Amino acid sequence: MKDKQHRSIHILPKEVASQIAAGEVVERPASVVKELIENSIDADAQVIQVEVKNGGKSLINVIDDGIGMSKSDLELCVKPHATSKILTTEDLEHIYTFGFRGEALSSIASVSRLTITTRQKQSDNAWKIQVEFGREKDVEAVGAPVGTQVKVEDLFLEIPARKKFLKRDSTELSHIAHVVRLFATAHPEIRFELISSNKEIFRSLLEPKGSLVVSPLLGTEIASKLIEIRAQTDNINILGYISPPDEIRFNTKNFYFFINRRPIKSPLLWRATMDAYKGFIQKGSYPAGVIFIEVDPFLVDVNVHPSKQEVRFDEPERFYRLLYHSIKERLELNSKEVFLISEDKNKNDSSKKNYDHSDTNILEKIGFFEKEPSPIYKEIEINRHDSSSYIEVLCKEESKLKGESKKLDAFLLDTSSLKERPIGNLENLEILGQLANSFIICTDKDGLYLIDQHAAHEAILFKRIFDQIKNSQIVKQQLLIPEVLEYPLELIARLNEAKEVFKKVGLDVSDFGQGHIIVHSVPQILIKDKAIKNSVKKLLDLVLDNPHLSKELLLREIAASLACHSAIKAGQRLHKEEIRKLLEEIVQEKVHHCPHGRPIALKLDLDDLYKGFKR
Ligand code: ADP
Ligand code: MG
Repeated sequence: MKDKQHRSIHILPKEVASQIAAGEVVERPASVVKELIENSIDADAQVIQVEVKNGGKSLINVIDDGIGMSKSDLELCVKPHATSKILTTEDLEHIYTFGFRGEALSSIASVSRLTITTRQKQSDNAWKIQVEFGREKDVEAVGAPVGTQVKVEDLFLEIPARKKFLKRDSTELSHIAHVVRLFATAHPEIRFELISSNKEIFRSLLEPKGSLVVSPLLGTEIASKLIEIRAQTDNINILGYISPPDEIRFNTKNFYFFINRRPIKSPLLWRATMDAYKGFIQKGSYPAGVIFIEVDPFLVDVNVHPSKQEVRFDEPERFYRLLYHSIKERLELNSKEVFLISEDKNKNDSSKKNYDHSDTNILEKIGFFEKEPSPIYKEIEINRHDSSSYIEVLCKEESKLKGESKKLDAFLLDTSSLKERPIGNLENLEILGQLANSFIICTDKDGLYLIDQHAAHEAILFKRIFDQIKNSQIVKQQLLIPEVLEYPLELIARLNEAKEVFKKVGLDVSDFGQGHIIVHSVPQILIKDKAIKNSVKKLLDLVLDNPHLSKELLLREIAASLACHSAIKAGQRLHKEEIRKLLEEIVQEKVHHCPHGRPIALKLDLDDLYKGFKR
């Protein structure tokens, strides 16, 4: 702060100002690739080739066969706010092109060595311009095919503050590959190619305009299993492919939204999707899918953020409802189809009796609920099940119901008086039974305990498995028939980096070529599992898809995943001896929380109960 008194206000040098502004658009190599591809699409390209080196840090070269630029346009396009796409603010109301701000090329020019070579069909020669970190050079005539080539070298080299935020090459390459795959999905009529250090990473198959291809984003394996959804109103059109509930994923990254062929991030649409899947998939699992929404541009505003990934909807509830209902109805139909088949098959199956759990619901037993729910209870059940808090805010009728459900809750149990409790002295704990086959109910002289059986067992297993991993004691098992899993090439390129982690947890994996990974051995815990492929994929995803996680964290996550996998499930009926054993293990391992921090035991103090009953 020594020189503070010498400071006075001054206008920033042009270069510094534009480098600061560039941060808005150009965050990392993938954002450069995104801007350049958008420009190529706007220029009616049919083939777009992306070549990168070092994850795009040393080179990004995008070559298209589009309409090209004239010499004067070329001189203009690297200047701030130079655009051929809009003229007036009214034009902002109906944007059909990707670009419109005219700031991508000028931003890129200020933070890299940029060379643009371009030629129009009617021109005999191409024109080339070079800008080095904002310093412009003269335009010269050169030979080149029709179209435009934009070469970006040494991104951020002269801007250390930005350069230091770049991740390792393989991570940046993954981001770039993701961008290319997004565009290939949105524009199946354009041929996309991605080459990294002379190796082909991705090449799209040409399909007619408007067709929905999912394989660039979701792979070819799942593609045939997806179910189609369609919905239409007068000005919103939805077309998509979504995974059936038995083809779930374990992270949220496999679901994509496009509005008017523009890839977007939308908490609203994701919420509608997850709400529609409620009841069809378990907590912690997520659907895969691609949703295309076509809509009049005046119903959405894409001008929210320079990177143009976010949108603002004019009437969000319409979009929410349309998507929610179209997915939900399709899933219901799907589950009916499945049910009809399985019902037929199991006609004489006596194991069905297992589903009768009328004797297990303690609250019901002691008369809290009537056997046949009264009408008001039924209504609330439906409301609770179907509606998210989002809808509750939107629909008046439903929020009225919500009020009633709150009243009922308050009558039954004020959950605020439930306290997180470690279980200490077991001797005095009396086991009453299970609630919803998921929570163990016990008492001692001063209260009532509710124990989440899955979370508790998960916590115990996690502690043991993590210890084994740390001490290299994980038992591995050779697979009789190796599993072969499909993976994007940019993730397979990470196998080497992750070798040590895989070894620690008993996974022997190698590159099988052609976008596949072969699995030779797995941790023994997984071997009993029928869906072993899914479980292994979950572990591989975790490691390959999260290069930013430290080795220690990855091992923790794997231990957590294996623990969750092998733990007693929610909904599983337990015998008293099993419950007793679980309680003993809780005390023995001194666990209080599941690996992700949720409590395993809650206590209702007798004192609070007296208060609740106004005694
Ligand atoms: P915007 O796309 O928002 O207009 P850009 O800075 O990305 O702004 O591009 C500026 C202008 O340069 C565009 O409006 C377009 O006229 C021209 N341009 C950029 N890339 C290409 C390309 N690949 N082919 C033809 N013209 C291009
Ligand atoms: Mg642009």
